[in-house]
Amino acid sequence: MVKHMIPKNLEEAILSLNQDDYQVIAGGTDLMIQKRNDADLAPLFKTNMIYAFNLDELKYVIKEKDRIRIGSMTSLETLLYHPDVPQLLKDVIIEVASPGIRNVATLAGNIANASPAGDTLVVLYLMDAMVVLSSLGKERHLPIEKVILGPRKTSINKNELITEIIIPNNNFTKASWVKVGGRRADAISKVSFVGAITIDQDMVVDFRIALGAVFATVVRNKELENLYKNISVEILKNNIIHILNQYQDLIKPIDDQRSNKTYRNRVALNLIEDFIRKI
Ligand SMILES: Cc1cc2nc3c(=O)[nH]c(=O)nc-3n(C[C@H](O)[C@H](O)[C@H](O)COP(=O)(O)OP(=O)(O)OC[C@H]3O[C@@H](n4cnc5c(N)ncnc54)[C@H](O)[C@@H]3O)c2cc1C
Repeated sequence: MVKHMIPKNLEEAILSLNQDDYQVIAGGTDLMIQKRNDADLAPLFKTNMIYAFNLDELKYVIKEKDRIRIGSMTSLETLLYHPDVPQLLKDVIIEVASPGIRNVATLAGNIANASPAGDTLVVLYLMDAMVVLSSLGKERHLPIEKVILGPRKTSINKNELITEIIIPNNNFTKASWVKVGGRRADAISKVSFVGAITIDQDMVVDFRIALGAVFATVVRNKELENLYKNISVEILKNNIIHILNQYQDLIKPIDDQRSNKTYRNRVALNLIEDFIRKI
């Protein structure tokens, strides 16, 4: 018999996860689709479920000196209108689904769902986000790339709940997000891109690129980015062909119902080129 549990508070949620096998449900905007049933029948859950979306203790945005902390049950729509949320994250969220979905969808759900096309993941990778995983008497703080291991695969233990997402302050000179989908709203990305650069007196201080839906996980390579720091913007631009070749080696898009690998490959490289040329 499948159990469902609506914890009164975070303590009860963590205790329950420790005592029994549960799957967490937050907004349910991925899970309700994944567990869909025959027409006219309610979704079919075969595992015990713990409903976390009404945990008010996990609904917050706290701005600190060098980072912001986001409670894991804060809806995407709340983040969209919160003054302390970085504009770059808002640029991404406004293109996720539609307001109705965003009213309940969460960053934590996007992370734990670990889809190669998860939109917020691309910007969370770019901004070096940390994920806080809480279990009974323990807290793990992991960089997002250590949480997401592959399509639908994470390092989240069964007794853990994502309780917080931490985003360091970034002061990019220019940052840009591009989502390529089939339509303007309610579209899953065919390819997504975020680029960011910090320039001081014509020198590149920081250079970051992250790509979604062109590999099993978000593509971000810090070693490659480091090669293009502490050089002039002009030298960066002169290296475009070289940079594109390097990213070509990192991306391995697939064919699926939304797009094909030839298109994804070309578009991903075009987006990198366009970002650099417009600096
Ligand atoms: C019509 C529609 C359009 C969509 N458009 C987009 C889009 O444009 N871009 C995009 O990226 N996504 C899109 N999605 C997918 C979905 O809305 C997002 O992935 C959303 O962020 C999921 O959040 P959620 O809270 O609803 O997750 P849920 O469905 O509740 O959970 C998703 C997964 O995360 C796990 N989980 C959730 N919270 C936690 C937690 N705190 N700790 C541990 N595990 C947890 C669940 O067990 C489950 O495996 C769309 C979905 C729909 C239905």
